[in-house]
Amino acid sequence: MTMSQGKTILVTGGAGYVGSHAVASLRERGHGVVVIDDLSQGHRAAVPAGVDLVVADLKDRAAVEGVFARTRFDAVMHFAARSLVGESMVKPELYLNDNVTAANVLIETAVKAGVRKMVVSSTANLFGTPDRMPIDEDTPIDPGSPYGESKYIMERLLHWADRCHGLRSAALRYFNAAGAHPDGTLGEDHSPETHLIPLVLDAAAGLRSHIEVFGDDYPTPDGTCVRDYVHVMDLADAHIRVLDVLETRSVRYNLGTGTGYSVREVIAAVERVTGKKVPVKVGQRRPGDPAILVASSARIRTDLGWQPRYDRLDDIIATAWAWRARHPRGYGPGRGAGMAAE
Ligand code: UDP
Repeated sequence: MTMSQGKTILVTGGAGYVGSHAVASLRERGHGVVVIDDLSQGHRAAVPAGVDLVVADLKDRAAVEGVFARTRFDAVMHFAARSLVGESMVKPELYLNDNVTAANVLIETAVKAGVRKMVVSSTANLFGTPDRMPIDEDTPIDPGSPYGESKYIMERLLHWADRCHGLRSAALRYFNAAGAHPDGTLGEDHSPETHLIPLVLDAAAGLRSHIEVFGDDYPTPDGTCVRDYVHVMDLADAHIRVLDVLETRSVRYNLGTGTGYSVREVIAAVERVTGKKVPVKVGQRRPGDPAILVASSARIRTDLGWQPRYDRLDDIIATAWAWRARHPRGYGPGRGAGMAAE
């Protein structure tokens, strides 16, 4: 079951990490794409030639209306958001304002323009620190941070947009997005980088002196936190598959591989893949980190036949390493500027 070709999709945050991989997947499957991105976190170089990039903030209603006035979209994929749990604990207002306002403007404008389908990035953080694993769609929602709350509010906005306006939506709750496009042209490039796998790869490459493990006294087999790393291309695939379901109904799916790996297992996998030793220091726990987060994606597997193509951690890391090797400074010369201090 694949969506017929030749649709036109608006991708917000299409210059960012997950969004840029979705843009590439859409184009590989013959769809037209327009990207809207304020480039606050995204990269112009992540948007391929031939894709119309509108540089604008989603909170700028006139700019968003202009995008919908110029093109008739079959669907919207909404990736643009502030997405750091830790930052949201320090600046809750920023997250609750920006992510919610952006979603509101986008939904309202899309509805006015007659768009009937929207796919949005949601998060495992919706579930806070649940007491049973794996986390399925029936796990009670109890956001673990203002970031998670902002995504939950977005899901509720969409619930009402469906009830009141008939806008069908899919909220995809990612667990830990990881990896890079297998052709080595797209990958992860955050500034500052906070995510485990790119930081461990930097330590393997000698761009950092070591990786700090945030706590090794968790109630897990080796004491370090366990996460479910899911490949960005598999996330992109889910976004495209779900468009068909939106012909008939709105859906919410948890997206992970169903297998958890500890921080130490990630470090060991990086050493295997790169053949390099990673210096490790054990530090304090990072506030807000649950011990274990593993998804059950049984529902999307059953409904859509979605299956992660990258279900082995080493394969996920290999794609991230290939991207790093080709782009040690990410998309631009600015990348890596602050690393020497580490
Ligand atoms: N982590 C770590 N050292 C780092 C960065 C992350 O030990 O320098 C741990 C973090 O505590 C978490 C896991 O790695 O348990 C994944 O963190 P990341 O920030 O990549 O994703 P999150 O789970 O926060 O979405």
